[in-house]
Amino acid sequence: MAPDTQSALWIKDPLAILADGAERGILVEDGRIVELVGSGREPRTSAFKTFDAGAHVVLPGLINTHHHFYQTLTRAVPAALDRELFPWLQALYPVWARLTPEAVDASSTLAMAELMLSGCTLTADHHYVFPKGVEDGIDIQVAAAKRLGLRVLLTRGSMNLSQRDGGLPPDSIVQDEDTILADSERVVARYHQAGDGAMIQLALAPCSPFSVTTSLMRATADLAERLDVRMHTHLAETEDENRYCLEIHRCRPLDYLEECGWLSGRTWLAHGVHFNTAEFPRLARAGTAVTHCACSNQVLASGTCSVCALEEAGVAVGLGVDGSASNDCSNLMQEVRSAFLLQRGRYGIGKVSHRDALRWATKGSAACAGRTDVGEIAIGMQADLALFRLDELRFSGAGDPLAALVLCGAHRADRVMVSGRWIVENGQIPGVDLADLMRRHAAAARKLQE
Ligand SMILES: [Zn+2]
Repeated sequence: MAPDTQSALWIKDPLAILADGAERGILVEDGRIVELVGSGREPRTSAFKTFDAGAHVVLPGLINTHHHFYQTLTRAVPAALDRELFPWLQALYPVWARLTPEAVDASSTLAMAELMLSGCTLTADHHYVFPKGVEDGIDIQVAAAKRLGLRVLLTRGSMNLSQRDGGLPPDSIVQDEDTILADSERVVARYHQAGDGAMIQLALAPCSPFSVTTSLMRATADLAERLDVRMHTHLAETEDENRYCLEIHRCRPLDYLEECGWLSGRTWLAHGVHFNTAEFPRLARAGTAVTHCACSNQVLASGTCSVCALEEAGVAVGLGVDGSASNDCSNLMQEVRSAFLLQRGRYGIGKVSHRDALRWATKGSAACAGRTDVGEIAIGMQADLALFRLDELRFSGAGDPLAALVLCGAHRADRVMVSGRWIVENGQIPGVDLADLMRRHAAAARKLQE
């Protein structure tokens, strides 16, 4: 891939763009957006190359804030079909326990490729399965992200509460607290970049209240504070989890989170389906954000996140495709449509528009990731962009190009830019042989499911 971040580039005369005052496009230089070109104007700078965006709808790069890349290896597994979260997990844990380094590499690369081709420029991942031999799972993911040029927020996940101790996962896929904390510190020290423009960031992510001890939750919060990184976990996903917390911890999931020192501005939570209205302002006051996973919540019949009520209370809400065993795909643009449909169905016409759904996947997701340099097309922001063409059957005859992306079901970006560099061109990822990647990935999946 030829990096082209030095000279200025005018992304000229887009068919439509999700930004005010940029009717004639934007100027990108040194990885940032340096100028919005309004109607009837030319860029102020004279030395620039031009990209004709006349056939493109330009969005801020979409941001995925919850995923488990390795789960692309267990899509539509017969034993897990038609099950709710707890039995679904119990069917899959023994399969995931057979992960290998090659399987982590193939699944991470494939999931990221899938995301990039759907318009994603920054993705989180929550990797919490470290069976014997896969202790360097995060290192493998970092290497894959660097090869692809995608911006990532990789979370060092963990599980240390197995069936033996009253948890849900089998003994073979949990690690002990000291191992988890030491490796968390190691990967943050080795890979985490702070500040504007960071390509690789790390966060700490115990899996859930039913697979992690209270001691590990607290120690992780202390470590995140000391290392100045974000914290992530699943919370309030199902009624089963509410019952588990009431029975084991004698409180609701959010009370438990607070008790562990996690109700914090460092935290973003996956799902947040089963919070009650009294809990919304507590999340808002703490600055804790929520990732809405519309597809996953529908597949597992977990319930519907109260996105509008959360936002009205002041909670930032982003989107996540969630692990591919519960979605079962990693297409972020399709997730935008799914969130739009689900939330409009819940709240009605006046409350949810296609622009809201696009905002959740950009500004909202940026807040989840704790970033102020991405998620918006504005001067000074990172040049992270997703460009879609409308020359497919599904768009034919469409009126409003931005609305068409969501309503007609856009699913494949034509071009994607991260930090001023094209990582997707003409619907392809330069340097990646997708057919070969699929062969490698399918072989790893077969091996795992055998
Ligand atoms: Zn998840």
